[in-house]
Amino acid sequence: MSKKPSRPRAEWQDQLAQGIRDVRAIPGLTEEQYVRLEAIAKEYPFFTTPYYLGLIETMDPSDPVFLQQMPDPREFEDAGFLEDDPLDEEADMPVRHLTHRYPDRVLFVVTHTCAMYCRFCTRKRKVGKNPVPPPDELQAVFDYISAHPEIRDVLLSGGDPLTLTDGALEWIISSLHEIPHIDLIRMGTKIPCVNPARVTDELCEMLARYQPFYVNTHFNHPRELTPEAREACARLVDHGIPVGCQTVLLRGVNDDPEVMKQLMHELLKARVKPYYIYQADLVKGTDYFRTSVQKGLEIMEALQGHTTGFGVPQYIIDAPGGGGKIPVTPERIVELTEEKIVLRNYEGRVYEYPAAGHASDVAPGTLREYFPEFNE
Ligand SMILES: *Cc1c(COP(=O)(O)O)cnc(C)c1O
Ligand code: SF4
Repeated sequence: MSKKPSRPRAEWQDQLAQGIRDVRAIPGLTEEQYVRLEAIAKEYPFFTTPYYLGLIETMDPSDPVFLQQMPDPREFEDAGFLEDDPLDEEADMPVRHLTHRYPDRVLFVVTHTCAMYCRFCTRKRKVGKNPVPPPDELQAVFDYISAHPEIRDVLLSGGDPLTLTDGALEWIISSLHEIPHIDLIRMGTKIPCVNPARVTDELCEMLARYQPFYVNTHFNHPRELTPEAREACARLVDHGIPVGCQTVLLRGVNDDPEVMKQLMHELLKARVKPYYIYQADLVKGTDYFRTSVQKGLEIMEALQGHTTGFGVPQYIIDAPGGGGKIPVTPERIVELTEEKIVLRNYEGRVYEYPAAGHASDVAPGTLREYFPEFNE
């Protein structure tokens, strides 16, 4: 970060300049433990902001905010079936930094830097390790997208795009916005959670010049919705930028229906729409965060019908091997025949509905049971 004497460093720049990258900042460990964590941080970079460190209440892994940001000896566990890139993102890359998996939309990794390295990150293989892509490689991505009119949606990801300067980000966004077949641009960012002061009015004004522009942020625990984080989300929304949230289901953090429901409620209060809850990917170095799929389904059962409909995200398994995102929902269909569907509601009660559409679509008599007025 270059210091300009004429202009004091902004609060968010202080957060980065004073960021913590030394595991010895974790108090109370033995020399042996520090040495072990140093080896882990060498393989998987450690960096966090004083702000996010300050959200820790208990300085040990029983604390959900500690667990997400602090290196852990379990990162070197290998269950055998774990991979560095289980989603095969690199295999679907027609040009560097771009994954083109779905026909109409692409994932564009604009940087490998984050404001905090989540220990459970799916891109653990590369975050914090490679420099920001040089302009000619970014230009190659713009050229690819320009040459592919079937692409209508570009998702800026990383790393965290908001670790770039406003100027660098605007160059990327405006270059994409100029492409006639691009309908919308969206950005995934953890910044409102880990360095909320980065979401300045100037940034929001810039993003608002490229509507429709959507932001998906990333909160995993209700304690992360501090006044500062709410203000960052509010600033985006007040500038007309819809904000969603992608949450990762994490053991010891939010694998509890009550915690998850409280998180969804806090997001709605902050005008953030819950978008996805991800089942943890099979990423090497992150297995200690993984819950069972049954736990995810139990959480979805506790949300759907029990709280505000748009506070209920989709529960997603990103299929290993590049199959893409697949929604997993608790079973609601008890029976489905040509005549009827039998459904289970949120309380476990069972209801019927005629399966066929308009009466002219069905064989005479089929609807008799439900609509006696059709009887001849
Ligand atoms: C998640 C993802 C997208 C966007 O998916 P949506 O379900 O539309 O949010 C696009 N490309 C890749 C490779 C992805 O992993
Ligand atoms: S901010 Fe996103 S990309 Fe960066 S470490 Fe966390 S999950 Fe990974």
